[in-house]
Amino acid sequence: MNKEWHDGHRLDPKANLDQRIAWHVEHATACGCRDMPESIKRELAARNLPLPERRH
Ligand SMILES: [Zn+2]
Repeated sequence: MNKEWHDGHRLDPKANLDQRIAWHVEHATACGCRDMPESIKRELAARNLPLPERRH
C-alpha cells in the first residue's frame, strides 16, 4: 500500500460521484491496494473512460 499517496489523497466521505471516480482512477495508478468497486468501473465504462492499469 502506498501510504504516502493515501496520506495526501483522502477521499471525503461526502465526495460526489465525479470526485470518487477521480479518486479511484488516481488510486488505481498510484497504489491499487484494493480493487476499484464495480460501481466505479461501471461509471467509467458509461463515460467511455478507460480502466486504469493496476500497478503493484
Ligand atoms: Zn491504496
